[in-house]
Amino acid sequence: MIRLHFKADFESCTAPFVVKLRLPSSVQSKVLGKSEALASPRPTQAGVYDCQSWKRNFVLHATPGESIDGDVLLCIPDRSVIQRLFRRASNSNTLLLTERCDQLCVMCSQPPKNTDDAWRFPLYEQALMLTDSNTVVGVSGGEPTLYKDALFGMIHRLSTYRPDLSYHILTNGQHFVVDDRPILNRLHGCTSIVWGIPLYSHQEETHDEIVGKKGAFRRVLDNLFLLASTNARIELRTVITALNLFDLPGLASFIAKNIPFIVDWALMGMEPIGYARANWKRLFFDHSVFPQPIINALEISALHDIPCHLYNIPRCTIPEGYRRYCVDSISDWKKKYLTVCDGCSERTLCCGFFEWYNVTTAWSQIEPIKKGDLTQ
Ligand code: SF4
Repeated sequence: MIRLHFKADFESCTAPFVVKLRLPSSVQSKVLGKSEALASPRPTQAGVYDCQSWKRNFVLHATPGESIDGDVLLCIPDRSVIQRLFRRASNSNTLLLTERCDQLCVMCSQPPKNTDDAWRFPLYEQALMLTDSNTVVGVSGGEPTLYKDALFGMIHRLSTYRPDLSYHILTNGQHFVVDDRPILNRLHGCTSIVWGIPLYSHQEETHDEIVGKKGAFRRVLDNLFLLASTNARIELRTVITALNLFDLPGLASFIAKNIPFIVDWALMGMEPIGYARANWKRLFFDHSVFPQPIINALEISALHDIPCHLYNIPRCTIPEGYRRYCVDSISDWKKKYLTVCDGCSERTLCCGFFEWYNVTTAWSQIEPIKKGDLTQ
């Protein structure tokens, strides 16, 4: 697993700050910018760097052998910790805007916390200014739109200075209101944003039960239309659990009939951590032995030209004719493969498994795919 937090020793206890690392061997300009730190590796201590920046110096304890050049860091001196906000070597960088949330999904992988996160926002904005060109910025939570004004303001300001950035924002879709139309229109006119919004069933009670909030289904539907009226690009997200598996074909028809304007429908495997792990027995369904509801949903979507993909679902758990829907979706820092994957011809295409996947409690049909294998 790739670490997103490092220990660090700071020469003084200042307020948190943001800095972009540069190794002496970096090919970039020799002039160090005010927001950069020159990270010199200690010859005798693998993974330890003496970092000198314009104002502050610190010692970074990184993972030996792992690239840190170009990473954008949030340094928190009073906790002696550094958070890697953006890793140059990764194509999946996500800002956790807040840990607060107003829903309580039964399979939430990041259970909400009542923390005060507002102090991070100006630092996140500085970090975004420092990211490499054309970065796709993931924004997640908690629920980011609990801080809707701060989020909109940040993206709007950045659209001037960093028009190359694009955003993939995960939201429960509960907090948009009609008065947001002008700012949403402006944002969608100047920046590329995909809103990832969950819909777990076409049945109101099931969706509300899964998200732990009465009225959530109606609210999210209203807001899908509101967003669409501002030219939003919407990715609908449905985590597959035993509670909604058999609703998938009905949900596919519902989407085709009522919300065909989405840019993608993401059918997703559960991430086995947080509430998902706590509720695993109640929620897990082994689709590798019975994939039909998923297949039916894919077929109905195809029939109606609804773009559709399978996320966090290993390719060998899906019949061969439908594997083209599978996306290599698990972020590099928390992805692993099993020993059985060593002989698989589709490993480079496969999402693999979350680091916290437990072989004894999940899919029973994990088998390496042989080249040209059409037996599944
Ligand atoms: S054997 Fe491993 S790499 Fe191959 S499809 Fe299955 S999970 Fe993916």
